Amino acid sequence: MLPLPAFSDNYIWMLHDTRNALVVDPGDAAPVLPVLRDMGLSLQAILVTHHHGDHVGGVSALREATGAAVYGPAGETMPEPLTRLRHGGSATALGLRFAVIDVPGHTAGHIAYFCADWDGAPLLFCGDTLFSGGCGRLFEGTPAQMQASLDALAALPGDTRVCCAHEYTLSNLKFARAVEPGNQALLQYQARCESLRQAGQPTLPSRIATERAINPFLRTREADVAQAARGFDAHVNPREAASVLAALRQWKNEFR
Ligand code: ZN
Ligand code: FE
Repeated sequence: MLPLPAFSDNYIWMLHDTRNALVVDPGDAAPVLPVLRDMGLSLQAILVTHHHGDHVGGVSALREATGAAVYGPAGETMPEPLTRLRHGGSATALGLRFAVIDVPGHTAGHIAYFCADWDGAPLLFCGDTLFSGGCGRLFEGTPAQMQASLDALAALPGDTRVCCAHEYTLSNLKFARAVEPGNQALLQYQARCESLRQAGQPTLPSRIATERAINPFLRTREADVAQAARGFDAHVNPREAASVLAALRQWKNEFR
């Protein structure tokens, strides 16, 4: 499994066996084609999570160059042709099944792909919905939709490897520390991620169990997180997770 860096902070995730590969959210074909060539891999499938340009920009060029099958969300404008997927559906590639989970919020039709077992543990491609230490901006969805989407992802097995589409971890963790200054797991995770970045390594994939422990957007029902959200916006209802999430998202948008 390879996170291919693209643009300033995107990752195009590539999964492969000895012959075939799949990529997720190729915003650009340029980082993918030389890797396929050098490793002697044929591109079997392209999985797309949502319609943003930094996730679909390379789809047509890759499909034309390789003949790969393209899968994407049922409810979004996509480069055609593709197989459109909705909740409960799945894509198959490399002999594996990738189950589709609807995760609206960042965009209205955003989907995630879950594989129950790849190399001994589950795998999640969540696009711009869940980031390590954060979540996507609410461009087309409501806080309640994003809360439900994050609840669905948080309910996945703890050892699920979380493959996010951006390297936003360190800036997310800076914000997470402002929300939960007393969270020891967060402090330790931040130190680990800082040394990874200093060594030029990706902080991803993360794990669902890690995110449950350190990501404020998965912790909107924790008293300390609700209290901090109320400190930002006194109108927050601390017993309503979506209300806490709305305030956290607004706070994060303004946070430097
Ligand atoms: Zn996006
Ligand atoms: Fe993106």
